[in-house]
This record gives sequence, structure tokens and C-alpha cells, in this order.
Amino acid sequence: MVKTLNLKTPVVESREQRLGTIVSWEGKASELVELSAYSGGCGGCTLCELSSPFTQGSVCSEQMVECQAGHVREAVLIQHSPIGCAAGQVAYNSLYRNGLKMRNKPVENIRVISTNLQERDMVFGGVDKLRQSIHDAWERYHPKAIFIGSSCATAIIGDDIDSVASEFTEELGIPVVPMHCEGFRSKHWSTGFDSTQHGILRQIVNRHPKKQEDLVNVINLWGSDVFTPMLAELNLRVNYVIDLATVDDLAQMSEAACTIGFCNTLSSYLATGLEQEFGVPQVKAPMPYGFQGTDAWLREIGKVTHREELVEKYITKKRAEVKPKLVELRKKLKGLRGLSATGSAYSHGLISVLRELGIESDGSLVFHHDPVYDSGDPRQDSLAQLVHQYGDVQSFNVSNRQQFQFYILLKNIKPDFIIIRHNGLAPLASRMGIPAVPLGDEHLAVGYDGMLHVGEIILDVIAHTKFHKNLAAHVKLPYSKWWLEQNDPYILSKNPELIYQD
Ligand code: SF4
Repeated sequence: MVKTLNLKTPVVESREQRLGTIVSWEGKASELVELSAYSGGCGGCTLCELSSPFTQGSVCSEQMVECQAGHVREAVLIQHSPIGCAAGQVAYNSLYRNGLKMRNKPVENIRVISTNLQERDMVFGGVDKLRQSIHDAWERYHPKAIFIGSSCATAIIGDDIDSVASEFTEELGIPVVPMHCEGFRSKHWSTGFDSTQHGILRQIVNRHPKKQEDLVNVINLWGSDVFTPMLAELNLRVNYVIDLATVDDLAQMSEAACTIGFCNTLSSYLATGLEQEFGVPQVKAPMPYGFQGTDAWLREIGKVTHREELVEKYITKKRAEVKPKLVELRKKLKGLRGLSATGSAYSHGLISVLRELGIESDGSLVFHHDPVYDSGDPRQDSLAQLVHQYGDVQSFNVSNRQQFQFYILLKNIKPDFIIIRHNGLAPLASRMGIPAVPLGDEHLAVGYDGMLHVGEIILDVIAHTKFHKNLAAHVKLPYSKWWLEQNDPYILSKNPELIYQD
């Protein structure tokens, strides 16, 4: 295969450099399909995006390293940063503990250390503190690997984390892996996924693999274990990576028969890197959502692992099992309008599920858009698949979690519920009288059963609509009268001068 990823340097290329990622756009989904690289793009140019003079808040790549590398068991993550960058540790500790519990693993706290850089270190350099932190991590935990995440502060002063990592790899005899993830390097936080995966591909994955023909890498986060029973019917074993995996689980990724994921946004870099560097095939198929996506995804797994017959049996069995239940659910959900507000590729999958359930979903929000994924293979063009199989999405919005824009979107679309993964958006919807279906467990929507799971959760959630309506009647939103009267979420991007007017 053509090598698309550059693993020679310790610094990952950002999403915008590799894929032309954008974070702000509005239009129809079909228009975005036409403008994206799979369809030839904008005549060789980068996809144009709206540019806002104002941002209300977001997430950064360093936090993605924190919740991926920081969730590898038997390893330690050192955040080479001021303490503010480590604010996420509290929430990520809770995610880690809950994830371990859900997978029946021993529950423990994260092992993440901040070098706690101060003003003085900004002047004289923070490398000594980094060295001290590595020593402390080794003394306290004797980990099988140490990851070092950079931050805006250390990137600005130019601390040489690569040399320190090499020095300690030799001294301690374990991989000490630098991950360049300072927030300002990329406009979208998903570059942090790539940064973690880049470091793991370079320094953790076994370079002399002994093949395990029934092992499948499943790139995931913390979701419940829906893949083990599904793949067991195909005589396949699951190797969950990266979150909640051990260092050995990560090392054996090169031994697997293939790599799959639940979301192209998360798995693009690692799956492509495993194929490019270690010959582990990436399953290039639609994502496993709705009937058509799940059928095609399973058939491709069957082809790659030589289990076509088992796959056909499984498809026939599950379709027969799920279809009558789905008919019942559709009756109960009839007439509802839903809005999906999640990460990019995952949202394409969720809209497919909503449409299988007969729910109207003509508006959506994605936090970014990748015009192409790393494999470049059109079988992974999840947005085009959504549009071709389930029809257009009239109001398709790209916005990196800007609440002020989300307010107008909700006002215009008036959904009966929103379906989200990042709960920060839920309180706003709630204050507008709209309940949120939180998919904290990202695996719930996967496969044939996923349609039933999502339908049942929606029924549960809309039963509490009155609570949200009551809330809306008694709260005041924090926006000015002028903003509350606007109908275009992107008006500041189109008329940036408005921000300076009273
Ligand atoms: S790395 Fe930069 S953007 Fe990320 S939390 Fe630290 S200071 Fe903020």
C-alpha cells in the first residue's frame, strides 16, 4: 500500500495537514459530500470553512492524549504542563473507573502525573522537572511504559521532550514515548487521538509479531463489551485498544487478523498505521450502524478473516431476531424529530440509526469534518453512505461545540430530543425544554441490537420531557436579547464586524 502516514518523526502531522479537517461549515450533507475529497474536493483546494471571530469554548488535543494514553493499564502518563492542563484528570479518572467496572476489570485510579510548571520554568525551562517526574513515576509504579504529553507551554518554550524520552527509554529499559499534543497545534482535538496512536505505533507495537489468526483489534473508548459476543459467533477474539488496554494488549496489535472500530474519526490513524507498518488489514467498509452498514461491515470482516459462512449465518439470525422488535419500536417512536450532536463519523452512524427507527432527523451538528480518512478508501466515506442510503440531511452543521451556535440551531430545528456524547451540550438543550439522550456508552448504537438499544433509550428519555419544559419555563439563558433573536448560527462568521457593535 502507499504509505500515507509519516512515522519517522516523533511529531504527528495534524488532521488539517493530513486530511484537510474543518471545524465550521453549514449546508446540506449532500453538498458537503460533493465538496469532500472522496468526490474530488473543491478542485484540489482545501475545503472552505467559516471562520468565527469568537469562540465560546472547546477541547484540545492534549486532553485526548490524557483520556487515551492516560487510560492504558500498567502505564503512566506524564503531562508536561502547567497544572491547568491537568484539570481534566478528575473527569477522566471517573471515566476510567467506570470503564473498568463495566468491563469487569479491577477498578483503580488513573496514573497521570503533571509536572506542574510554574512561571520560573517558563523562563529557565522545565526539563529538570520532567526528569524528576519520570523518576517519580518509575519509583512509585514501575510501569511497563511511560507516555509524555506536551502542552502549549512546553511547546512555546521548546522543551526537548524527545531527547528526554530517548534518554529514559535506555535508562529504564521500557518505552518512554513522547506525544506532541499541545492544544494550539491543531484546530481540532481529534489530532490528540492521532498523537497518542502515533507514539504507540512507533514505540509500543511489537515489531516481530507472531500472528494470531482469530484476534481482532477493536479501536474503542470505554463502551460496554458488545463486540466480544458478536465476534465470538464468528470464532474471533477481541483485542480492545487503546483505552482500558494493557501495554501488552497494545503490543500485540501487530499480531491481529484485522482492525475494526466503531467510529472512523477515532480509528482512522491507528488502523491505517497498523496496515501500513505491520500488514494488519483495516476493515474498509461502512461503519456498523443500521441494517445496511452492519451487513456490509460484517461481510468485510468475514472476507478478511475467511469466515464468510459464519457471517451469513449470523446476519440471517440477527436480522430475523431484530426486525419484529424494530417494527414495534417504530410505532412508538412515530412522529418524533431528533437531532444528533456528536463527533463527526459517529454522528453519520447515529443518523442512520435514527432513520432506521423512523425518526425524522433533518438537522444535525458534528464537531468537525474530515473530508477524507487516512486510508483514502471510498468504502469508508461514511457521510456519502449516509446520504445515499438514508437520504440528505438538510441542515448539516459543523461546529466545534460552540454553545451559542447550538442555541440557534435548536431554536430553528425544534427537535423533540437531542442525542449526544459530549454531555456539556445537554444542559443548554434542557434549559430550552429539550431532553438529551446521552450516549456515554458509545457502543450502545452498534450493530443490529444497537437500533433497539437507541430506540428504547429514546422512549425512556422523552417520557421526562415535561421536566425539561418546566425547567425552560423557569430559567433565563445567558445570551443577550439580540443573540436570542437571531436565526443564523453563523451570523458572526459571515459578519465579524457585528461583534464590535453594541
Ligand atoms: S495544552 Fe494548551 S489548549 Fe490544551 S489545556 Fe493545556 S494550555 Fe489549554
